[in-house]
Amino acid sequence: MYDENNIFAKILKKEIPCNKIYEDEHSLFFNDINPQAKIHVLGIPKTQCVDYSDFISLSDPKIIVAFFQSVNLVIERLNIASKGYRIITNSGKDGGQEVPHFHIHILAGEKIGSLR
Ligand code: AMP
Repeated sequence: MYDENNIFAKILKKEIPCNKIYEDEHSLFFNDINPQAKIHVLGIPKTQCVDYSDFISLSDPKIIVAFFQSVNLVIERLNIASKGYRIITNSGKDGGQEVPHFHIHILAGEKIGSLR
């Protein structure tokens, strides 16, 4: 069940601010408030979806494609493709998800360490 008062829903409703990197009809990208790398950007779709599985199963395929195309656009704008980056999405308790609105982390700007 989607919580309409989660932090990212509030950012989408402009109830709380964010440091915006890119926005279009379907998605919003902003800097993580607690960066884990020199570049740490979060990307969220504007649809109400809890996690990756929710996003994929509930969304029109056109929205899914549009979202991942915006991820790539942001990667190009950040100029990180040649040196590399890591994309992560956390889901649920075992995945360590804190905010229950589907989001991807884009980490770059330095060597990203091992996950464990
Ligand atoms: P996750 O553990 O995958 O749910 O990640 C949630 C991320 O959201 C964490 O990296 C937080 O630092 C980040 N975060 C939480 N609140 C904000 C906020 N208001 N603005 C930007 N990033 C946030």
